Amino acid sequence: MSTAREALTRARRIVIKVGTSTLAHAESGKLNLYKIEHLVREITDLHNAGKEIIFVSSGAIAAGMNKLGIKTKPQTIPENQALAAIGQGVLMHIYEKFFAEYGQTIGQVLLTKENAVDEHARENSRNSLNAILDMGVIPVINENDAVGVDEIRIGDNDNLSAIVAAMVNAEVLIILSDIDGLYDGNPKLDNSARLIDEVTEIDAEIERIAGGAGTTLGTGGMFTKIQAAKLATANGVTMLIINGATNGNLRRVLNGENIGTIFPRRN
Ligand code: GLU
Repeated sequence: MSTAREALTRARRIVIKVGTSTLAHAESGKLNLYKIEHLVREITDLHNAGKEIIFVSSGAIAAGMNKLGIKTKPQTIPENQALAAIGQGVLMHIYEKFFAEYGQTIGQVLLTKENAVDEHARENSRNSLNAILDMGVIPVINENDAVGVDEIRIGDNDNLSAIVAAMVNAEVLIILSDIDGLYDGNPKLDNSARLIDEVTEIDAEIERIAGGAGTTLGTGGMFTKIQAAKLATANGVTMLIINGATNGNLRRVLNGENIGTIFPRRN
């Protein structure tokens, strides 16, 4: 087992990020309750095992679209803000229900660039998150899309989760994706594409793989995940991309099993 993977077995403060493509059924766009319930159970169990979990979840806009029966994402900012306002409540309602079934209390935190990046505001956000964790509660974080406009948006939850992980000095950030990790080609088009086990340096080649035409899979795609990896690893956080569709992967990777792609922290 590599040193970085071995260290995962001792990690105590962990940020887990899940994207819409894991939370929703690909065909209908409706929420995948089976998946969400399994995820909630696994996260609660990690918490029960003594870990501090910070959960970053997307899905607000998708849940809003579902609720109103809208099939395609609207173009205008106010319409997307409205859908997020509607959907964020729906999402939290489902999380409340499932976490409560396992006896776990959660607290919603909605952030924008303003309170996640500016130094003074960042300190306040950190204090709030630490207080929530000290109470034995799992913060459930999303961007505050209902008031977010381009100037104050982080824009994607891969970067948001890295900002949060750095903010609370987490040891590990786990991004649950809809593929097994970072490949050296596009596994959907190229049979010989191989999963990269460990990325010790995010160089031009890694950026090319992540951003190259046809290799961007999933909602945020690999490009924002690589941006997140840069930010996380430079701030002392080890990042992983693992498949969120496979139940048990969170526990397995934290037990040191060789799954997904690991980006060991750089300082
Ligand atoms: N905050 C957005 C939502 O909840 C998702 C952003 C992302 O997919 O990265 O719908």
